[in-house]
Formats: sequence, structure tokens, C-alpha cells
Amino acid sequence: MRRTSGTLWQQSGRWADATPRRAILPRYARSVEHARRFEGPTDLHLHSTHSDGTEPPALVMAAAHRHGLRTVALTDHDTTSGWAEAADAATSLGMTFVPGMELSARHQWRSVHLLAYLIDPDDPGLRAMTDRIRSSRLERAQVMADRISRDYDLGWDDILAQTTDGATVGRPHIADALIARGVVRDRAEAFRGILSPGGEYYVALYAPDPVTAVRLIADAGGVPIMAHPAARAGLLPSGLLDEMLSSGLAGFELGHRENLPAPTRTLRRIAQERDLIVTGSSDYHGLGKPNEPGENTTPDDMVDRILAAGSGSDPVFP
Ligand code: AMP
Ligand code: FE
Ligand code: FE
Ligand code: ZN
Repeated sequence: MRRTSGTLWQQSGRWADATPRRAILPRYARSVEHARRFEGPTDLHLHSTHSDGTEPPALVMAAAHRHGLRTVALTDHDTTSGWAEAADAATSLGMTFVPGMELSARHQWRSVHLLAYLIDPDDPGLRAMTDRIRSSRLERAQVMADRISRDYDLGWDDILAQTTDGATVGRPHIADALIARGVVRDRAEAFRGILSPGGEYYVALYAPDPVTAVRLIADAGGVPIMAHPAARAGLLPSGLLDEMLSSGLAGFELGHRENLPAPTRTLRRIAQERDLIVTGSSDYHGLGKPNEPGENTTPDDMVDRILAAGSGSDPVFP
């Protein structure tokens, strides 16, 4: 059976070939088995070189394991291409792997990130959207590089040198190119200056509005959780949050180092009133951010709710 090990699916070379488990076992059996089989501590937000992390999926899983985690998700921006390697590495280290992604969205000028757990990676609607976002990211990075090259010694090749083939390109790769050129010391300095949205080099990327993003995830069988929802950009307008919730938003990532105390309390109250899922995660990016695996974790009952609610793909058990 596919969910008990990665092997069947590895033989097929694709994630979604096998018969979905829900066709074999009724839903109640799923949650009973989850309750029995996964173990914490759980970190559901980590990035690899498939987007803007600095380590390939297997090394991300190894880092998670070193930090004592037992259940982990890989949530690269707008791509699921790291799942196979991550699932293999996680399970061989005795950890449970939860497939995930961090989908880009946008409300007016601000970017909104939606964690998408247990999505069907081959869902046509979601695939079309992530393809569109990733190609827009590539063009946008080229335009930004162009603008930066007027003032700094930086070419497109410098950015490509910092990017793994096929990865979701982002400002962090431009930051790494600037570091390699000795222009800035680290990603944080690049984001404060040259890459900042208020600056002359910045170009916005295409991304769907948050309600569309939530619907795409839900329609792909996934569980949408808003990433770092109480960070510096501030809370989304309550009307928009309501619309996201009625479109299927399942919860908030309240345990995240970038969340601020006051808006976090507001969202915690909303989560309690509406019985939403609340997660805590690291948002590990390898050397790209100071965040360490397991610095925030998600309680077992919340992990269980995510596993019971998702139907587009299955967790992989060791
Ligand atoms: P982009 O998707 O190209 O707009 O870039 C946003 C990404 O950059 C986010 O996913 C973060 O992981 C990363 N990022 C944002 N601010 C910082 C920072 N100060 N230091 C390092 N990485 C950052
Ligand atoms: Fe990132
Ligand atoms: Fe994010
Ligand atoms: Zn992230």
C-alpha cells in the first residue's frame, strides 16, 4: 500500500499515479491510522533549493532530523518538485513526510503566502496557476536584474549561478548573487536595501488574489493555512479574511518568528471562535535565514486535523 512506504510510488516515478487511498479505506479509517502512526515534534514549513532554501530536499530533511523532528513537510514556493527526494530522505530517517507547498498570493501591494498541505500535485487548476506564477517570477527576476545591473556589477548569469535548475526563482537568489559579488553581506541586508519593495529596482510578481488561492488549494484536495499571517505587513482586512475562511481557509500559522504579538492574539481569538487549525513552524531556508528547524512546532491534534482534512495526496510514513 502506497501510504505505508515510499517504494510503490518511487517505482512509478510519480507522486500521483497510485490509486488514492480514500478509494481503498473509508475516511474514518484514515484518521484512526494517522492517530496511531505519526509522531511529533512536527514542523510543517521548510524550504529547499527547489525554491529559495539553500539546501537540497534530502539535506533539509537531515537538518530537521538532527533537530529532533519526527514529522515534517516540505513547502517550497509554488512547486512540488522536491517532494520525491524529501519523502525518500524523511522516511529513511524514520520521519513522517507531509507533502506541502507555499502558494504565492497577493492583496493589492502586499504578498500573502498560503501553505497548501496534501494537495494533488497534478491538479490542473493549481498546476496552471503555479506554472504561471513561476514563469512570472522568472521574468520579474530578469527585469530586476536588468535594473540592478545599471548601478551594480551584476548580470543574469550571476543569478543563474545561485539558482538550481528548475527552481522557483525569487529575490533570495538575487540576494545570493549580490552576496557573491560582495555587494551585500547577507540576504537580510539585500532585502533591507536593493531588493526592498519601496526601492527603484523592485518589480512585483504575478500572483492570484488570496481568495482565488484558497479555492485552488481546496479544489486540489489540499488544506490551506495562511503562512505568517501576523507578520509586519499587518492583518488582512477582516472582510477579506472572512471571505478566505468561507472559501476554505482552514487555519493560521501562528507559531512563526515573524508574527507580532498583538495581531497574533487577534487571530488566536478568531481561531478559537471558529475552531480553526493553528500551526507553528520554522520556515527554514537553510543558510538563507536564521530560522532553525523545530523552532516552532505544531501540536499533534492539529497535525491530525490536517491529515484528516487533506485528500489530494497522502503523507508518507517511515
Ligand atoms: P519573493 O518571493 O521573490 O518576493 O521573495 C520573498 C522571499 O524572500 C520570501 O519567501 C522569504 O523567504 C525571503 N525573504 C524575505 N525577507 C527576507 C530577509 N530579510 N532575509 C532573508 N530572506 C528573506
Ligand atoms: Fe522563502
Ligand atoms: Fe512565506
Ligand atoms: Zn516560507
